[in-house]
Amino acid sequence: MVRVRYAPSPTGTLHIGGARTALFNYLYARRHNGRFILRVEDTDETRQIPGSEALMMAGLKSLGLEWDEGPDMEDNSRYGPYRVSERLVRHRALADQLLASHRAYRCFCSPEQLAIDRKALRAKNLAPRYSGRCRSLTEDEVRARAGERSVVRLIVPQEGMCTVHDVIRGDVEFDNRVFDDFVIMKPDYTPVYNFAVTIDDHDMEITHVIRGEEHLSNTPKQLFVMAALGWDDVPTFAHLPMILAPDKSKISKRHGATAVEEYRDQGILLAALANYLLMLGWSTPDGREILTIDEAAQEFSLERVQHTGAIYDQKKLEWFSHQYMTHLPIAEIARLVRPFIYYRVDEGPSYEAVVSLCRERAYTLVQLADQMAFFYHPPEHYDAKGVAKYFTALTAQRLDCVRNELQGLSHWDREALMQAYDRLSEALGVKRAELIHPTRLSVTGRTVGPGLFELLELLGSAEVLSRLQTTAERIRSGNLVTQD
Ligand code: GLU
Repeated sequence: MVRVRYAPSPTGTLHIGGARTALFNYLYARRHNGRFILRVEDTDETRQIPGSEALMMAGLKSLGLEWDEGPDMEDNSRYGPYRVSERLVRHRALADQLLASHRAYRCFCSPEQLAIDRKALRAKNLAPRYSGRCRSLTEDEVRARAGERSVVRLIVPQEGMCTVHDVIRGDVEFDNRVFDDFVIMKPDYTPVYNFAVTIDDHDMEITHVIRGEEHLSNTPKQLFVMAALGWDDVPTFAHLPMILAPDKSKISKRHGATAVEEYRDQGILLAALANYLLMLGWSTPDGREILTIDEAAQEFSLERVQHTGAIYDQKKLEWFSHQYMTHLPIAEIARLVRPFIYYRVDEGPSYEAVVSLCRERAYTLVQLADQMAFFYHPPEHYDAKGVAKYFTALTAQRLDCVRNELQGLSHWDREALMQAYDRLSEALGVKRAELIHPTRLSVTGRTVGPGLFELLELLGSAEVLSRLQTTAERIRSGNLVTQD
């Protein structure tokens, strides 16, 4: 049975890198009818942020990535607990075991001593590594220093090669000489990440370790721990490509939003975000880009994950958001945009009809809410550039003509409206556009929006006629307020 895990450290909110790792794990589990496990790696107390675990869980859920086992669930499996800090007894027992079997040793070197060692190596142009000074301490010597500050180091083979079999990158070879006897237990006898993760993956019977590329160089250390413990159930490794900014630098805050909740606040559709994350490193055999998580779960494979960096592009993400905006059921979009609506919508045209008309031009829910606003509130100010361009000395009079023409309509639908503008443009000897642009600006305060006839139809005759009149009066009285 496939068992995969997403193992975030609770040091902040859910960012795109973590979200993509979680997604790929989730899809792999679904594809193989396996289990997707959430394990919170709270080993490094100093970097932890309170509340972070809850934030991360909320982020995962908002993307539709529900886990099968995790710290928030009743733990009746034989695999828990799912917070690394709660597994300490086991980590300590195995550290004891390694000490007893002489696969690891106590190291009493002080941080000052280690700094001196490092400096000496650097002076000789050698890479910093632990000298092995405490490796040969006798049991009596160790016992005599029992009360002193110490760490536990693993004995690492000093020759040969270590091969990481990675499904995405093939075999990656590491020369064992680049590793030193690294620390597995800190002075307080708690495990470091590389030690805890190996034990937890083994105990939780993790079959596939799917994680970010930055962990590739940790993998040999985890293999050394396994070897020392005599374990041969090496999981299949898959190291996902880095997510890069368009300029190929490492993605960071300065490239804009990177946290799932920031995207949510920007009104990016989260189904689209999940879909976009899928494309950051993976592709369908037929090049299809738009697919839901459920669809992706049918065909996801690690073999199709690229090994070169995946370029993140906010514009592309917005494009995905737009695709979902225009293709999800109207009722769904109407529900999603509701929290972004900052005005009353209980009077005026049908809410869903307005959503339906406006969504064609919206990339985010924030934009959609903004574009819907004029349906419920007459403009108080008018786009300054539009006014400069479309409002002339003749406009007030033209608006009166438009109002007269529309007042006489027996049917108020887009067809009838279009014909009315055709008649009027002929009667006045002006192009239709010369009537359309000022009408839009008068009725909505804006220069862009849904098709004019559709929006007039939806707004209704009484409202349209009243807005035309108000705008004409504002122009005449010089009370027209513009806004950049
Ligand atoms: N806690 C590690 C991280 O957040 C997990 C690494 C792993 O998946 O092994 O990067």
